[in-house]
Amino acid sequence: MTDIVMDGLYRIEVPLPNSPLKELNSFVIMSDNRNLVIDTGFNREVCFEAMKKGIADLDLDLSKTDFFITHMHADHSGLVTRLATETSRIYFSRIDARVFDKDSDWRPMLEFAGINGFPAEELARALNSHPGFKYSPKGVPNFELVDEGSIITIGDFRLQCLLTPGHTQGHICLYDEEKRLLFSGDHILYDITPHIESWAYQVNALQDYLDSLDRVYDLSVGLVLPGHRTFFTDLKGRIDELKKHHEERASEVLEVMNGRTMNAYEIAAEMTWDIDCDRWEDFPVAQKWFATGEAIAHLRYLESEGRVRRNVGSDVITFSAA
Ligand SMILES: [Zn+2]
Repeated sequence: MTDIVMDGLYRIEVPLPNSPLKELNSFVIMSDNRNLVIDTGFNREVCFEAMKKGIADLDLDLSKTDFFITHMHADHSGLVTRLATETSRIYFSRIDARVFDKDSDWRPMLEFAGINGFPAEELARALNSHPGFKYSPKGVPNFELVDEGSIITIGDFRLQCLLTPGHTQGHICLYDEEKRLLFSGDHILYDITPHIESWAYQVNALQDYLDSLDRVYDLSVGLVLPGHRTFFTDLKGRIDELKKHHEERASEVLEVMNGRTMNAYEIAAEMTWDIDCDRWEDFPVAQKWFATGEAIAHLRYLESEGRVRRNVGSDVITFSAA
């Protein structure tokens, strides 16, 4: 489905089957000379067909179209190499672009999951069912790298890049100050809570995320255009809810531990998750992966707050209340 958001700005709804996110919002800005597509959908046929249909509905000339990807996740970046033409610029966060480096691979992440209690026999399956592994762009796109403060101008839209690490380390929102628009990517969603995970203890993803929420809190915004599902107007109200949510989740981690020493996988197994499974054993392995990553992000945050202690030195890292 393709609909108009405002003069010169459209949204193509791209279905994401089997994902709790349900659909991706691909935003299209059209002008007399260049156009801009913000995010693209997974590199899989159902998404490609939806994008092709939207492009036809809008009569969009891809040879005059550039692309901006809010962050490296495959539901946003997946189709960019198939849609971009030789004359397209692909704007991409300098930090997130590291995942396309030739020496970047999944092994350190798998090892890290293992030392956090993720069972070895489930690791290979977790990788093979991970959407980032299955539906990423083919080949390495030729990026135009952007940073904090970069400006992209399309017609009368003037988009300022705001580095908002947390959901990914290089996540970027686009802000049009005059139009009071915030393209929030997966930094701020309305219907669901953005997934915050950590796959290295050097990174305190949840603290980064909370700081990035503060960073956009005082912007003058009339409409927030998130990467998934519903648009909304009350930016401050939503940020307050998200902060409260993570404080509650951090408290839940402590309640689950209840004085015990446990690893992150065990803690994730006892937390509550919004999924149609009663028992942890029945969770699809990809969901166990996301849950464990989220538990680690909260544990790392609690550690930095001095509320839990990380015990290293044996094969599996454990946590205890500080
Ligand atoms: Zn994402």
